[in-house]
Amino acid sequence: MSQSIFDAAKAQLNKALQYYSIDAESEARLSTPKSSLSVSVPVRMDDGSLKIFQGYRVRYNDLLGPTKGGIRFHPGVTLDEVKSLAFWMTFKCAVVGIPYGGGKGGVTVNPKELSLLEIERLSRSYMSAIADFIGPNRDIPAPDVYTNSMIMGWMVDEYSNIQRAFTPSIITGKPIALGGSQGRDDATGRGGFYALETMKERLGLGSKPLTIAIQGFGNAGFHFARLCAEAGHKIVAVSDSKGAIFKGDGLDPKSVNQVKQESRELKAAYCKGSVCEVLDFETITNEELLELDVDVLAPAALENQLTKKNAENVKAKCIVELANGPTTPEADEILFEKGVKVIPDILANAGGVTVSYFEWVQNRAGYYWEVEKVHERLNTIIKKAAAEVLDLADEHKTNMRTCAYVSALRRINEAVQAKGTLRNFSARK
Ligand code: GLU
Repeated sequence: MSQSIFDAAKAQLNKALQYYSIDAESEARLSTPKSSLSVSVPVRMDDGSLKIFQGYRVRYNDLLGPTKGGIRFHPGVTLDEVKSLAFWMTFKCAVVGIPYGGGKGGVTVNPKELSLLEIERLSRSYMSAIADFIGPNRDIPAPDVYTNSMIMGWMVDEYSNIQRAFTPSIITGKPIALGGSQGRDDATGRGGFYALETMKERLGLGSKPLTIAIQGFGNAGFHFARLCAEAGHKIVAVSDSKGAIFKGDGLDPKSVNQVKQESRELKAAYCKGSVCEVLDFETITNEELLELDVDVLAPAALENQLTKKNAENVKAKCIVELANGPTTPEADEILFEKGVKVIPDILANAGGVTVSYFEWVQNRAGYYWEVEKVHERLNTIIKKAAAEVLDLADEHKTNMRTCAYVSALRRINEAVQAKGTLRNFSARK
């Protein structure tokens, strides 16, 4: 049987433990989720029938603070996946030093097959099913794959109705009108962009414009593309679940996004229409995109995209993991041997949760920041975390993923020790 996503995620932790040993109690606490909830999510469909969807919420670990992490609506959602995503959130929050543990949620559903009203009822029903399990000081959801600020708005409204008190700090990634933060919308892509800009020279990419291919053109992929293009880099290829497009002298991410928004798929860029006509490109497959000869490859879709089957063929010099878990442990080894620098997911996509933290802080203070403040504070956090990871990579001569885990483990271990371990107990005797 192939390895579960969760086993693969834990293999990353075990590798880091070879470089930084932690208290046995910290290790024990990190090896399994704190609590997992499985719920049925009843939804009245537009035709009057009732459909029951399967939902989950996992609080992986809360040693550093309330658990934090998004909610995914996707047909591939399983408990194993949600557990792994919650595990990664634990280390993501720790590597950037924000006061959260890790959590995640999901509903097994293809939202593309639902009407907008059905998605609203699904969002409210899921929130009602998990309302007792979460809380502004316990577990704070946010958007993830195929969920967005509109869905967060319905969810905060539902939770507030249940509590009979407007409670914006229950969820982040909300519309600005309902207590969302400036700068949350593009924060994941922006964090990846800041990480790349901070690290590129130390990673040997120089200071010249880079060629970039991006797999996945959702919120993270689009904003990363946009910001990189604005900084003078060349976006030569982008893809979505239906296929990829390539243009050697650079695509304009905003036009591509406009086509995608109007037609729901990049492939529609073959269409005859005003925007399509201004776009000129070749079509390639998603697999070909991953193997393009570019400076930077950014997987921004789902897990397990770079595997032992294709890692050998990767020609990019650097990988910016905007998705969670896009590289399997075997692929990681191959890429390291080949000298490909992988900026790991828990650092490269931590911009989203960092600005979620800012949103939660603003909700609790009831005082809202200008977008410039959000960008500046995000940049400070990403730069610091990136420098720590690079310093550790120089010291240990291993890949950046392992070093990101080492950096996170230091913080988590400190919290475990501060709470008291067997060592305190033995000292008293
Ligand atoms: N879903 C995002 C992630 O995987 C954001 C989580 C959050 O903002 O809490 O990092």
